[in-house]
Amino acid sequence: MGFDLHVHSIYSDGALTPGQLVIEAIAQGLTGIALTDHDTVDGLPEAVAAGQQQNLPVIPGIELTTDFGKIEAHILGYNLNYREPTLVRKLEAILAARVGRVQEIVKRLNRRGIPLQWSEVQTLANSRFIGRTQVFTAMERRGLIDPLRRKQSFEYYLGSEGIAYVPHREIETREAIELINACGGVPVLAHPGRGGVDVVIRQLVDFGLKGLEVYYPTHTPEMVKKYLQFATEFGLIITGGSDYHGRPGQPLGEAQVYSLPFN
Ligand code: AMP
Ligand code: MN
Ligand code: MN
Ligand code: MN
Repeated sequence: MGFDLHVHSIYSDGALTPGQLVIEAIAQGLTGIALTDHDTVDGLPEAVAAGQQQNLPVIPGIELTTDFGKIEAHILGYNLNYREPTLVRKLEAILAARVGRVQEIVKRLNRRGIPLQWSEVQTLANSRFIGRTQVFTAMERRGLIDPLRRKQSFEYYLGSEGIAYVPHREIETREAIELINACGGVPVLAHPGRGGVDVVIRQLVDFGLKGLEVYYPTHTPEMVKKYLQFATEFGLIITGGSDYHGRPGQPLGEAQVYSLPFN
């Protein structure tokens, strides 16, 4: 079987601990996983230790939410030296900015008459990370979300065109790519098929991008073909992963690669 190179844990907005992810990966027959929590490396020591204990290769990674002008690009970083002080300091600033951002989201919801308190959201954070998933779960706990219209509700309140949306503005794409390279990691553009980024791939390569996440659950065969061609054209490595968050209907290993594209 293969590697799922895009997985989230409770250290960002996933449902499972790193140890539980390793157990689940073994149960699914995977050869290895990469932990790529949003904007944090706090789960990596635990994930690597669990992998060693269970004899499952666990690749340390991260997924940075970045801005390229008006485009939001998610940059994965693999095998990075996650104790590098420049990285640690930058992530502290990003996580602090996320707190301010979510507080602003709560204020905007309140202005629209939605009764939600910051403390209800904050209590759902398992680590220093906080984001829209915690806001949405807090709204669900209050009974504000129709369980049959979860996706539409997320878009209505919190989507990029939603009534309480606040953009990120925490790190630019160029800085993120350079930071991952400076930490000895491999920067990869996540889920390009989700849109908006095709026109900037060439520039990202100039910034030091090394790979494309070609295999992803929502990528159609046509998208896979297109991104395989981009990878050949720009000399990029090919990765894949499921973006597993432990939510119902999204199995671990839904997208994989069958050999590791980096050392
Ligand atoms: P943030 O990083 O704070 O901007 O939050 C984005 C996160 O929200 C993503 O990483 C997903 O985990 C989650 N998310 C995005 N769209 C949806 C959706 N339609 N329903 C539920 N969760 C979503
Ligand atoms: Mn997420
Ligand atoms: Mn992403
Ligand atoms: Mn992700």
